Amino acid sequence: MTSKSFVFCGLLADQDEATWVARRDKASAFLPLAEGRLSLAHTVVVPNDHAVGIHDASAESLQAVVLLAQELARAMETSIGARGVNILNASGPDSDQSVPHLHVHVFPRWKGNGLDTLPPTFSGHSLDNGWLSEVRAAMTP
Ligand SMILES: [Zn+2]
Repeated sequence: MTSKSFVFCGLLADQDEATWVARRDKASAFLPLAEGRLSLAHTVVVPNDHAVGIHDASAESLQAVVLLAQELARAMETSIGARGVNILNASGPDSDQSVPHLHVHVFPRWKGNGLDTLPPTFSGHSLDNGWLSEVRAAMTP
């Protein structure tokens, strides 16, 4: 959703221009480049400390990102009347992640605004019957 030159660590270090919505101690929010926006007020939230995605992010960074997304959702409701948000993250090489710095997109939603929440397709990837036990066994207790 963003151009390859749009590197988030560079933005956070003020090496590149960004339109900031909020800057906090552990997370920041900014508007994506115009060509990557799905709506007005579509906002990207990132941890200030570098992490590639959800797999390697610290608990502190994840907490800061989710809390800032919550703050943004509340602000979008009270300021621009968006009574819903969709939050999207892509993490990992097979996820269509656009920039290798953890980020969540916060899309404000208004009734009948023409965005779809979930794609109408089902993954064509098949798994062996034991997939649920394997995932459970791989979880940290
Ligand atoms: Zn980074």
